[in-house]
Amino acid sequence: MGNINPSVDLRRDGEVVVIITDNPPVNALKHEVRAGLAEGLRQARDDAAVKAVVIGCAGRTFFAGADITEFGKPPQAPGLGEVIVALDDVPKPVVAALHGTAFGGGFEVALACHFRVAIPGARVGLPEVKLGLLPGAGGTQRLPRLIGPEKALKMIVSGDPIEAREALADGVIDEIIEGDLTAGAVGFARRVVAERRPLRRVRDREDKLVAEGFADAAEALTRRLRGREAPAACVEAVRNAITTPFEEGLKKEAELFRKLVSGDQSKAQRHIFFAEREAARVPGIPEGTRPRLIANAAVIGAGTMGGGIAMCFANAGIPVTIVETGRDLLQKGLDRVAGNYRATVSRGGLSADEMERRLGLIHGVTNLDQIGSADVVIEAVFEEMDLKKRVFVDLDRLAKPGAVLATNTSTLDVDEIARATKRPQDVLGTHFFSPANVMRLLEIVRGAATAPDALVTAIALGRQIGKVPVTVGVCYGFVGNRMLAQRSVEAERLLLEGALPQEVDAAVTGFGFPMGPFAMGDMAGLDVGWRIRKGRGERNEIEDALCEAGHFGQKTGKGYFRYETGSRTPLPDPEVERIILDASSRAGVSRRQIPREEIVERMIFPMINEGARILEEGIASRPGDIDVIWVYGYGWPVWRGGPMFYADQLGLAHIRDRLALYAERSGDQTLHPAPLISHLADEGRGFASR
Ligand code: NAD
Repeated sequence: MGNINPSVDLRRDGEVVVIITDNPPVNALKHEVRAGLAEGLRQARDDAAVKAVVIGCAGRTFFAGADITEFGKPPQAPGLGEVIVALDDVPKPVVAALHGTAFGGGFEVALACHFRVAIPGARVGLPEVKLGLLPGAGGTQRLPRLIGPEKALKMIVSGDPIEAREALADGVIDEIIEGDLTAGAVGFARRVVAERRPLRRVRDREDKLVAEGFADAAEALTRRLRGREAPAACVEAVRNAITTPFEEGLKKEAELFRKLVSGDQSKAQRHIFFAEREAARVPGIPEGTRPRLIANAAVIGAGTMGGGIAMCFANAGIPVTIVETGRDLLQKGLDRVAGNYRATVSRGGLSADEMERRLGLIHGVTNLDQIGSADVVIEAVFEEMDLKKRVFVDLDRLAKPGAVLATNTSTLDVDEIARATKRPQDVLGTHFFSPANVMRLLEIVRGAATAPDALVTAIALGRQIGKVPVTVGVCYGFVGNRMLAQRSVEAERLLLEGALPQEVDAAVTGFGFPMGPFAMGDMAGLDVGWRIRKGRGERNEIEDALCEAGHFGQKTGKGYFRYETGSRTPLPDPEVERIILDASSRAGVSRRQIPREEIVERMIFPMINEGARILEEGIASRPGDIDVIWVYGYGWPVWRGGPMFYADQLGLAHIRDRLALYAERSGDQTLHPAPLISHLADEGRGFASR
């Protein structure tokens, strides 16, 4: 391939030049591709016999974006901006032929062409904001000129792509090509030449640049930003498209891009992007280990989690048998699943036909005998060891040889469950998060005996059902909940010392979490933990007092907060304040005003400390794995890169010193800095350097 360079080929089809790039897997716009495009465009411009140009890609997609491995390295000319200048220099019709995903810089190249055609399955979008960036090659100036600032803002700030048909309706593309794309694009180019269609570059269009609707959309968005820089920069750049001349807008866009790309937020988001991919590679798995085939699944228990997990399978087109203990419970579970789907249909998120198809893949039974054809079984019965063991003894007897046997336990010892079977190599944990059909995180718990190919199967399956799988080791609470437990202890301690739930929650949401620990507790229900503590003879002074007063959380309209009927908005509750003050005085604590910075530190640093112990013990393989868990499972603000990344940004010496102070003040030994933190801090290193 490639008579210009190994990645870029230029050929003639009569008077049309076709420039095709082939840079697998996604035709990222790496340096060689940019150089080839610039050179091809120069040749096409200078050859008087050439009447039109088609730009397309081989393989599975049009340019899917910049080569993000080049970020943070010295730029190598030509940059994407120069390629686009080369496009602007061609005074002949240039047609972009789109297939696959024309994303980011790829879509910006297409926007700089005179025309765009696409096959029906193609999608276009500007996802830069998801990496903490904005489209930096003219996207924020050209897209508003093509579809109006309000729509452009929506696409740029969400980062979500649109389908070819919608793009056609919006005027982003000019024609949908059925059949061979390149031939269709060449035909389109010839017609353009023959019909003498006016050649108007997107940059020269002004007719859609109306301010109407933009100001409101921009303001609504800005209100929700909570310190996120990239969407704010997107708003500013699109506003420039309306208020300043094109060249000026481009210059400002470039400035904004430079600021973002060197800033902490984008660094954090790029860290998560790579950490997520890295998490799929588990150390110690022999090269070439293949996943087992999964064509059929079974879920045991049609409760909160079982129903959601069954939906995950159905959504991915995998038939699933769901087993309950009796007809009524089964029906209740299936009704809840159907209700969830109906809600999605009524919101316009799913067609009624698709709902039926998915429901048709879920088969409810009340007899465990019927799981014999399942390639994977996920147990989601009550959190009781004896019950789980009994279920696994039955699974051992009934499941087909080689089936992966998974437990959705949140706290129990996966190795003990595995030992209930004669095939512990096939047993592992799949820890879904609630609601299981929505939450992206999947902790895959690797038991002591879990076979590499069983583990690889669970990871592949996780990805197939749209999850972000992260492999963890066996311990109480695994990674996420084990760290969360530290935060809960500290949150209660803050209340006893002088804070109120609304102050703690405001500090945590101010940090960037969508919800504070107490609103979260109210949502999950406070009575669950209360019952467990009662059973174990333990006491949690404030939360137990709340439960004793009927404060079970949202379900009773009052928990740490009170809730108006039909509302989920947490409101401060004087009765709760009284219960807290009583608890403080019973404990002999003289309450004090706790500064917000201290609240944030005490909500975050103990979790980082636990994360360090988790790394020391090898429960997580990499700090990045922990970061991915917190971003996808617990709403950690992605632009802060996860707890371990954040710790490295702050510097471990600072974290060590603060933890030591809090440990001394509270007398709580678990707050002492973990040896890993002390040791790395002494050497001036961070978690990432391990
Ligand atoms: P749940 O009480 O809503 O559902 C459990 C279901 O299992 C019930 O419908 C029960 O009838 C059924 N069941 C009990 N014994 C059974 C048997 N022998 N065969 C078939 N069905 C049986 O509980 P849940 O919240 O869905 O939790 C299930 C598991 O998932 C637990 O291990 C829990 O720790 C774990 N988990 C829960 C959450 C959560 O937020 N709810 C999150 C992660 C993990």
